[in-house]
Amino acid sequence: MIVDAHLDIGWNAISAGRGFLQPPAPGYLVSRSSLVAAEMGLVFATLYAAPARAGRAMRTRFVYENAHEANLMATAQVNYYHSCGLDFIGDRAGLAAYVQGWKKGKLAAILLMEGADPIETPAQLGAWTERGVRIIGPAWGKTRYSGGTGAPGGLTELGRQLLKAMRRKHVILDLSHMADEAVADAFALWRGPIMASHSNSRALVPGDRQLTDEAVAEIARRGGIVGVSFYGKHLRPSGRPTLLDVVKHIVHHARAAGGPEHVGIGSDLDGGFDARQAPIDDLARLKELPARLRLHFNRPQVEGIMGGNWLAFLERSLPLLPAKPDGGAVPAVNTD
Ligand SMILES: [Zn+2]
Repeated sequence: MIVDAHLDIGWNAISAGRGFLQPPAPGYLVSRSSLVAAEMGLVFATLYAAPARAGRAMRTRFVYENAHEANLMATAQVNYYHSCGLDFIGDRAGLAAYVQGWKKGKLAAILLMEGADPIETPAQLGAWTERGVRIIGPAWGKTRYSGGTGAPGGLTELGRQLLKAMRRKHVILDLSHMADEAVADAFALWRGPIMASHSNSRALVPGDRQLTDEAVAEIARRGGIVGVSFYGKHLRPSGRPTLLDVVKHIVHHARAAGGPEHVGIGSDLDGGFDARQAPIDDLARLKELPARLRLHFNRPQVEGIMGGNWLAFLERSLPLLPAKPDGGAVPAVNTD
């Protein structure tokens, strides 16, 4: 199975009206049917809400002004995933059973929160893990927790508290979008599982949104994985991206990490951009990637990059205990 570690499915549906159960909207790539046809078996589905200051860039009016609004918007996305019948995997046993029984046509998700502002206080984290959140990226732009893309700064005091709460709840840390200072703070503070869901190489595309080789090496040293994004601006400084650009980032990350077992896919497809800014015009063309990777890696290594590496990471990083039974639609987390 192919694994994609970053898809903003809930955001696409709720803020942009691109429903997951419909065929892909014209000019877009991702829907349940296109993922299944591409033999995608597991996706990291995000809870992403745009802060008001980013509304214009994200071409949406679906934005939050404060933490409570962010909470409500992420809650709406949890409910949307339930309404789509997308099953969340929450623990190692659940993952093992799913992988063993997987056949073409089946699709499950790991719930990833991108930008932690929907968590109103670190004390609220347990309510989010009960809903299925297993991975949290504290930043997007700047959040109350962390400096982010285009917004330098370290972890805030609240961010440090959040990381301690995440460790207690066995949540995985996603470094994507964190500012360099915050990445350094996280390396100093964090001892749990670590990854970057959708981050390309700064050596190939300058800018704080991409990871330095040193950060990739440190993630790898800790047993983590870096997912390569398919967004044009992450793939090349200018011009139309191709699958060759994807391969270049994978090869570069593998070298920086000391091996391809630390690299996977985190396409970010349709998360605020359309197919014109992607290296493929149809998700079925993902099938062309393994042959191109074979020019650089052997067959088991290519299978790892396409999905096996993420599965192995989750097998060692998800909590051991089963998640609480899932109650379907949920109200916003109550902070009273
Ligand atoms: Zn992102």
